[in-house]
Amino acid sequence: MFMGLTELKEAAPDQWEACYEGRYGRYTIFVNGDGKTFTGQACTCPCPDDECKHIELVKAIITFKNEEKQNKTLCSRLLSY
Ligand SMILES: [Zn+2]
Repeated sequence: MFMGLTELKEAAPDQWEACYEGRYGRYTIFVNGDGKTFTGQACTCPCPDDECKHIELVKAIITFKNEEKQNKTLCSRLLSY
């Protein structure tokens, strides 16, 4: 059985929704933010928000995606010179 993040999508600008398949079931994680600042988060797992690993994981991926996007923008800007 696959365990881990099974889905991550930007449901609306800066509003992320993720699915996590865990040992005890499937959780949905909601994170608001652009990768630099996060304004809200929630997870359906039984852990309190500040102890939840899923939120941390999703935030890390969004941050990574954001940096990747910035790098691409930077690259295409450099290429256009
Ligand atoms: Zn969680």
